[in-house]
Amino acid sequence: MIIIEFNSRQRRIIEIVKNNEPITSENIADKLNLTRATLRPDFAILTMSGILEARPKVGYFYTGKGEKEDISYKVSEIRVADIKSVPVVVDEKTSAYDAIVSMFLEDVGTIFVISNGYLTGVVSRKDFLKSCIGGMDINKVPVGVIMTRMPNIVTVFANETVLEAAQKIIEHEVDSLPIVEKELIEEKEHLKVLGRISKTNITKLLIEIANT
Ligand code: ADP
Repeated sequence: MIIIEFNSRQRRIIEIVKNNEPITSENIADKLNLTRATLRPDFAILTMSGILEARPKVGYFYTGKGEKEDISYKVSEIRVADIKSVPVVVDEKTSAYDAIVSMFLEDVGTIFVISNGYLTGVVSRKDFLKSCIGGMDINKVPVGVIMTRMPNIVTVFANETVLEAAQKIIEHEVDSLPIVEKELIEEKEHLKVLGRISKTNITKLLIEIANT
């Protein structure tokens, strides 16, 4: 499959044609405040790729062909904040038992752990399984003991792209990432949890892109 990556001007042309078809090259050039000559290579690429069709004396039409191949543009433009979910958060002192109950009630696989309002760790299904296999008393043991602890938590900021988040998820072999914001308190950096991005969010986005 040939993957065509359109540049930002070509994407603007596609949008203009989508909304105004049929539209002549002169009118497109006017809308962009550019000359037809400047746009000639763009029209050539767009018609060759099949996404636009040029009919003599009528103008350009949008065919939509090939646009789905532009997924790389979408995942590298859409921000984590655009597809985030609500995070499930518990305090470090919460018992493993209560955290497992939250995991079932909220239907998530990962819980973010905080202390005094700031991120201190992450606890996942496997962490609970390990503590059960190890014979811990889950009613007594707090999540703080079994979680993966800072500074080993992989996080993302809201303005990072979905592609960056997906790369972190794969590289660190985890299911989800907390979306965080830095706060400086007495010159020490703390992380506030704003949201969650998981393999599920990213998969849903893929389906959405495929269906548009
Ligand atoms: P599961 O336990 O359901 O397979 P994960 O693969 O996400 O879920 O978790 C595997 C391990 O990675 C667990 O020990 C968990 O605490 C840790 N973990 C999960 N998410 C993160 C993260 N964002 N940063 C660091 N460690 C994480």
